[in-house]
Amino acid sequence: MPSTERWQLRIQGVVQGVGFRPFVYNLATRHHLAGFVSNNSDGVHIEIEGDHEKLETFRDDLQTQPPPLARIDSIVIQPIPATGDAAFRIHESAAQAGPSTPVSPDVATCPDCLRELFDSADRRYHYPFLNCTNCGPRFTIIRDIPYDRPFTTMANFAMCPECDAEYHDPANRRFHAQPNACPQCGPYVWLHPTDLKDEEALAAVRQSLADGRIVAIKGIGGFHLACDATNSAATGELRRRKGRGDKPFALMARDLDVIRQFTEVNHEEAALLTSRERPIVLLRRKNNPSLSALVAPGTALLGFMLPYSPLHHLLLAERPLVMTSGNLSDEPIARDNDEALSRLAPLADLFLLHNRDIHVVCDDSVIRIHEARELPIRRARGYAPLPVKLPWPVQTVLAVGAELKSTFCLTKGDYAYMSPHLGDMENFETLQALERSLAHFRAIFRCSPARVICDLHPGYLSTRWATKFADENRLPLMQVQHHHAHVAALMAEHGLDGSEPVIGVSFDGTGYGTDGAIWGGEILIADYASFRRAARLKYVPMPGGDAAIKRPYRMALAHLHAAGIPWDPDLPCISATPADELRVLKRQLETRFNCADTSSMGRLFDAVASLVGIRHLASYEAQAAIELEMVSQSQPADGYRFDLLEGGEGEVAIDPAPVLQSIVTDLRGQVSRPLISARFHTAVAGCIAEVCTRLRKQTGNKLVALTGGVFQNVLLLKFAKERLQQAGFSILTHRLVPPNDGGLALGQAMIGLKR
Ligand code: ZN
Ligand code: ZN
Ligand code: FE
Repeated sequence: MPSTERWQLRIQGVVQGVGFRPFVYNLATRHHLAGFVSNNSDGVHIEIEGDHEKLETFRDDLQTQPPPLARIDSIVIQPIPATGDAAFRIHESAAQAGPSTPVSPDVATCPDCLRELFDSADRRYHYPFLNCTNCGPRFTIIRDIPYDRPFTTMANFAMCPECDAEYHDPANRRFHAQPNACPQCGPYVWLHPTDLKDEEALAAVRQSLADGRIVAIKGIGGFHLACDATNSAATGELRRRKGRGDKPFALMARDLDVIRQFTEVNHEEAALLTSRERPIVLLRRKNNPSLSALVAPGTALLGFMLPYSPLHHLLLAERPLVMTSGNLSDEPIARDNDEALSRLAPLADLFLLHNRDIHVVCDDSVIRIHEARELPIRRARGYAPLPVKLPWPVQTVLAVGAELKSTFCLTKGDYAYMSPHLGDMENFETLQALERSLAHFRAIFRCSPARVICDLHPGYLSTRWATKFADENRLPLMQVQHHHAHVAALMAEHGLDGSEPVIGVSFDGTGYGTDGAIWGGEILIADYASFRRAARLKYVPMPGGDAAIKRPYRMALAHLHAAGIPWDPDLPCISATPADELRVLKRQLETRFNCADTSSMGRLFDAVASLVGIRHLASYEAQAAIELEMVSQSQPADGYRFDLLEGGEGEVAIDPAPVLQSIVTDLRGQVSRPLISARFHTAVAGCIAEVCTRLRKQTGNKLVALTGGVFQNVLLLKFAKERLQQAGFSILTHRLVPPNDGGLALGQAMIGLKR
């Protein structure tokens, strides 16, 4: 006679809003077990009663077959006295003050829902808001936890009897699907400024897009601006209205076949495009003249995504659409109807609006595939707010990032919660988005920071905001060096406990150094607590400071000047510079008037791009460097070599002078740009391996972390990894957070926790 036992199970991870309770219910009833399951603020609680063997099977099934959107981080089991329960029940959720649990990101429409969307016999045929337990909005509609309808922006929609029956039936795939709705009881769309709604509004939008108009479309995490990507007049007009320069537009296509007409798509890229995260994936462009040249001028990559909400599925036809964030240049994406109607008024001809509120914005994510793995460029929808699991439990701190590609990080327990991409922290709107998003994170994760961490740069808006926030809340403020934070972010996403320092290769465009110079070509010996600057690119003066970012030819001139290479008019960067500016720059570089010293590797890439004539003026950050990567041969090519000098204070100074001299020689010898670029990338990779080998001799370190915005360049990443592997190093690269400043807050938090 088997004895009856009762177990209490506490499950942590992404276990709410993902169909976990019905899954447990079905499992328990299948095994004829009694007890209950409930959502609590800190996760899912189960009490389960039956004979021992059945309980063990139940536990194993729980661990091995969780619902698709669930992520179990831990299960704690405790035997308790049996109560003689006869049935298994699902309890209503109980809110608690202290604990918290990870929240699911927004999830793309699932195949079951898609079938209904296009089934004319279904009651949700062509309904733009259908969803189920396995798909639909989550993060962007949650106002508070536990994740239950009254705490979402669906609270105002009372379910009709049919929806209500689905919602309460554990066997239904809409059981406790919080955004559950239908045409009778749920949200609807309308087209502003017309009287059209529902199907008529959608038909009018399809027609307007085909006619070349620009439509603001309210989606899941904010507004998009859409136009026909094969129509150059429309695309050019959108570019002009948005003040966008040459920065590429993202595209949305109906299906993979359409994407394949315009780009190469390999196996991993196809899997990522069709994943439930549905990010924008950067893909190698094919020569297809039907795409407007104004979608992504001068770039070899196109960013494509597939429809991820029912609304998108209903709007997409054969032609791909430009689907760019609904904002002006680098402001955050517009969120509510009134805000969109005012902020986007100069940008859109028509507005497709709906009445399901977006509680917080969440932009589209951008990902590149590198060696069959994801390299995040922008982390937002589909990924945020999934936490990074930390190597040890920590107190709650707030880190606010830097300036560009702003995100913040809040830690709690052994999780680091990263905000979605907010925009560039250069304007009031982004600051407002930070405050709103922070308030949201503090509410849903139930935490209050005990200290605040920001960048060293005194001029950043984020530094000033953090100072004020720390003051007002009487919290300690800590300032963290930028490139150290990049290294710490990469260590943290790989779960390193920091007991061993790494060799951190931290290459980016701009970061404030401890000596007041602009750093960006740094090789650090670092753990979480501290760092030593072991090597850096040799300083060159940056004429006019940040103004040189949009003028790569100025960086080319500065580097030629520093290398002692004459400014001969046969060099593309010299012929591209107006004669009077040449005179001014020469004087400026000689006297160092209004020049900031920089060791930036990003700016060296800019300089080389201009020197070889690829780009002299950039309309967005890193444009020249990206184009230099794109033009390169894909195989390494020897020929150039950096000098390694003693830079004082034990630092190695990496001198690019011999590389620049070789490029000039190659230019005069009619060597092709693809080969020059490959040689340059190879030289940077070789230099990394050479410096790391020297440092290994000094310190014994064998682990190299490749981080910073420069490592969005997958060619450099590939070459550097090859060289380092040949030299016997282990290598860390980014997979969870971006190598650019979008990942910085994670590293800031880790450093702030260790100091
Ligand atoms: Zn679904
Ligand atoms: Zn309904
Ligand atoms: Fe950076």
